[in-house]
Amino acid sequence: MLVIVTGVSGTGKSTLGALLAERLRLPFFDADQFHPEANIAKMSAGQPLTDEDRIPWLQAMADQLIKSEKSGGAVLTCSALKNSYRERLAVSDAIRWIHLTGDRDLIWERMSARKNHFMKAGMLDSQIALWEKPMTGYLLDITGTPEQLLEASLNYLKSQPMKMKMGVIGMGVMGKSLALNLAEKGVSVSLYNRFVAGKEEGIAQKVVDENPEFSNTQAFEDLQKFVDSLEKPRRILMMIPAGAAIDAQLDTLMPILEKDDLVIDGGNSFYKDSERRVERLKEVGMHFLPMGVSGGEEGARKGPSIMPGGNAEGYAMVEDFLGRISAKDKDGKPCVTYVGPGGSGHFIKMVHNSIEYGEMQVLAELVHLLRFGFGCTPEKVSEIFTEWGQGELKSFLLEITADLLLFKENGELLLDKILDQAGQKGTGAWSLTTALEYGIPYSPLAESVNARGVSGEKAMRVAFSKTFHHEFKKVEGSLETWLPKIKAAYSLARIINHEVGFRLMKTVSDTKDWKLNFNEISRIWTNGCIIRSGLMENISANYSDSVSFFEMEGVKEQVISGRKSLAELVGLGLTHGFALPVMSAGINYLFGRITAESSASVIQAQRDYFGAHTYQRKDDPSGKAYHTEWSK
Ligand code: NAP
Repeated sequence: MLVIVTGVSGTGKSTLGALLAERLRLPFFDADQFHPEANIAKMSAGQPLTDEDRIPWLQAMADQLIKSEKSGGAVLTCSALKNSYRERLAVSDAIRWIHLTGDRDLIWERMSARKNHFMKAGMLDSQIALWEKPMTGYLLDITGTPEQLLEASLNYLKSQPMKMKMGVIGMGVMGKSLALNLAEKGVSVSLYNRFVAGKEEGIAQKVVDENPEFSNTQAFEDLQKFVDSLEKPRRILMMIPAGAAIDAQLDTLMPILEKDDLVIDGGNSFYKDSERRVERLKEVGMHFLPMGVSGGEEGARKGPSIMPGGNAEGYAMVEDFLGRISAKDKDGKPCVTYVGPGGSGHFIKMVHNSIEYGEMQVLAELVHLLRFGFGCTPEKVSEIFTEWGQGELKSFLLEITADLLLFKENGELLLDKILDQAGQKGTGAWSLTTALEYGIPYSPLAESVNARGVSGEKAMRVAFSKTFHHEFKKVEGSLETWLPKIKAAYSLARIINHEVGFRLMKTVSDTKDWKLNFNEISRIWTNGCIIRSGLMENISANYSDSVSFFEMEGVKEQVISGRKSLAELVGLGLTHGFALPVMSAGINYLFGRITAESSASVIQAQRDYFGAHTYQRKDDPSGKAYHTEWSK
């Protein structure tokens, strides 16, 4: 939205303009900034400007308005006394004019009270003489207070049909937060939520009403009106559940969109569905951006990590807006990057979530072992995690786990009242099936998905624990002796989780020729997202396609020194009755990956024995297939 506030000097343009800019979250410009020096000198000397003097000044403002329209809008205050001056500024249909008018004596009084202003009160009459009644816009009498003038102006702007920069579909947790984040960063936004008979009405309107500080939002429940409210080419972000809902929404949306419009799917869609949708929209000349978003509700509102892929042209249409709303890395760069073609944005979000599953499960395993094996109080576990979080082990998930261990409800630990059945929405399991499809070992992260599955069988667990008299045993040794090992084991388990995820991403990227940039992907995961951590910063700085993940700087030493600790901790946990699925799968995976002589010779012999599947020999590098008649 572009707003121009006009009026003779002394009408309070700058005050109203600044207030409007603040409420509309737009940059503010004052016409005085655009005067060439010669004009300022003339005015300071009390000489009136000629029309010729004003041409470069008006042109500079017109150029700024064109630039501002592209980046989301602006508020400009300018005397623009004549209609011919206003015409020079009328560079877009998006401009809304507010013309301040008032009693000459009141203006004189205000001008006389101003100090250090180059426009002296004596010039008022020449300005009034020049002033022409505007042909369009809102004439606003200046008699009220600045706040009253602001409200009147906002009401006027609301009454003007105005094209919005972006539209957001789905006012759930994420859609609402992202829409408000956009509005706060100066991107005018139309909000839409479907209406389902018998359910709550006016969901989008409620969001607008509950956030009156943003005057650059509009609410809709009618899809056609929502689409009509948007500037062309349109930019629409869908934040609705993955799966059939996305296809159904596209079915209703696409017939009312046009060529060159952009649709973004910011949900957790399966990347293969996204690839199909990129093609579907491409066939009709539209852009589709499958986009991962991480950070939960708070991240979406204050700064998420954003992973857009798909149509590069479509990305260019929203690059600036996404940069504004995203988290920023340690160097202040936006945590958003164009990931790659097809469904790559959703693919890396899927793997991100899979690593997230693994990271959460390792912490859950440690909390259990420390509390019920080592007898630590929740406060003690929280203290240990907080201390680890001060150093290189720092991570968002460690921080929130330390925090939730202290959360009390009516004086009792809330954690112990939460049913021990973990939920999931699909991304973890999709990563696992993708890893299987590509033949990539995935056991540590797969175990985090399986662990949630096992947790779901509560009734069976309770019954079996009685049948088999299964209980946790207290660890005999001292916590102090074990703590350095537990810390090293935790650090290595995390490294393994990340290696597994990055290996899958690299394999799929190479196979599909996506050319994913893993320094950049890990960089956008250093802030805003759920798996942000010191380790991720290390990966961003040191990842290299020519060095294996385990040999990366900052990692190799821990693989060497931490594996004994992880093996010992897993051994201790298992012998004391604790299920440690991710940590034990992790050490098995690592040992498997760094073992020169594996047990697979036995498998090959067995396969050849019962199925004549043949085998190759270590003493014949030609790769020749051998078969033995084993039972003869
Ligand atoms: P949510 O709170 O459940 O909201 C879902 C929204 O989608 C609601 O506005 C709902 O409208 C609408 N919706 C549901 N079914 C629809 C349909 N068939 N057609 C049109 N609209 C429909 O979900 P959310 O947490 O915001 O998540 C949205 C997407 O972001 C999901 O894909 C999710 O996986 C992903 N995501 C979530 C998070 C998170 O932390 N929550 C983080 C990253 C990504 P009604 O009110 O009318 O049902």
